Amino acid sequence: PVFLKSITIQGFKSFADRVRFDLQHGLSVIVGPNGSGKSNVADAVRWVLGEQSAKSLRGSRMEDIIFAGSSGRRSVGMAEVSLTFDNSSGIFPLEFQEVCVTRRVFRDGEGQFFINHSPCRLRDLQELFLDTGAGKEGFSIIGQGRVEEILNAKPEERRLILEEAAGVAKYRVRKREALKR
Ligand code: ATP
Ligand code: MG
Repeated sequence: PVFLKSITIQGFKSFADRVRFDLQHGLSVIVGPNGSGKSNVADAVRWVLGEQSAKSLRGSRMEDIIFAGSSGRRSVGMAEVSLTFDNSSGIFPLEFQEVCVTRRVFRDGEGQFFINHSPCRLRDLQELFLDTGAGKEGFSIIGQGRVEEILNAKPEERRLILEEAAGVAKYRVRKREALKR
């Protein structure tokens, strides 16, 4: 299994300043009043894992995820989120004990992606998580209504979910890419 060690958020939604959440093995819980940013943390994680739909991140445009300012606080020009995963088991095919993935977006829409601080493409980042069970379509994040959605899914849709769990989703994506060329 994938162990997420920390989440660092800066300029993303309600998080103007740099914040780091250090997670322990076992269960971590985020508590807080309504509107304090709990769901924004989950949105941040899904965004780094490759979420491309602003709507799914509860906005109308990607720019909506950049801190828009508050009373006494100016807006910022960039959102940045990093996830640091333990890789001592080698679950990610990289020669590092830790794997840190970072995503940035600027107001003009420019996006930047990094794996262990080296620039990469969005696709590299998405592919890194395919078959680890931690991808944006994986089971690491189960949103409200998701359980019902899986139960009510058409057989073909349910098959895609099972493929991801079985570890063959990577080949479906690669085949689709290969056929495009
Ligand atoms: P609930 O308990 O109601 O589910 P929550 O803790 O999950 O609340 P979130 O939905 O994570 O709360 O946070 C909502 C807050 O984030 C709102 O106050 C909203 O104004 C703020 N917010 C969202 N996007 C931005 C942005 N781009 N800039 C500044 N603040 C933002
Ligand atoms: Mg919420």
